[in-house]
Amino acid sequence: MLVLFDIDGTLLHGRPEGHTRAMVDAMALVWPVPVVPDDVWAVDPPGRTDREIARLVLRGHGMPDAEIDGGMADWMALAARLHDEVAHAHPAPVAAPDALEVTAALRAGGAEIALLTGNLEPIGRAKVAAAGLGDRFGDGGGFGSDAERRADLVAIARSRATGRHSDGDVVIVGDTPRDIAAARVAGVRVVAVTTGAFDAAQLAGADAVADGLAAALPLITA
Ligand SMILES: [Mg+2]
Repeated sequence: MLVLFDIDGTLLHGRPEGHTRAMVDAMALVWPVPVVPDDVWAVDPPGRTDREIARLVLRGHGMPDAEIDGGMADWMALAARLHDEVAHAHPAPVAAPDALEVTAALRAGGAEIALLTGNLEPIGRAKVAAAGLGDRFGDGGGFGSDAERRADLVAIARSRATGRHSDGDVVIVGDTPRDIAAARVAGVRVVAVTTGAFDAAQLAGADAVADGLAAALPLITA
């Protein structure tokens, strides 16, 4: 079994302020446009990839797609570097209750676990490490630096897995309707948790819904 964990709202709780700051400051330097953090919050970011968020924010400032595409690689590198510099000035990400126990239980049961997140890889890994979960996840996973479309990250994460897992043995754990939509496109199971911005009714399209990771564990392995 391969269990793919979303980061924000799932493994980590709280608003990713340092992450947003780094994305915004990097946009303002690369394109350059007068982007502010509220521009990010205004594009309904939960479940979107960082690249998708950047594109929506820049379009809102009148930037043509060709220019957005031209700066994307520089922006990803700069955002990661700025995150290293500014993260300490913002509240540290907090691991979800039971995140350590649940990931340990899955591994003890023989499951492979990896990250599946819209975060740019260096930023996502830094946040997970700052929350004390860095030793849980290996080199695999799928990140917002790998693709702009969240659904595309599933195949990338599967290709990087150590083992080969059939569709029925892959489970996404996430907190947004976009995690569910990605699972549906990819043809894999999804367990949703209500620890992000969405309640059980909004996540009813998942195969199962739990109020946190501890409650999600038996649903993941079911
Ligand atoms: Mg999330």
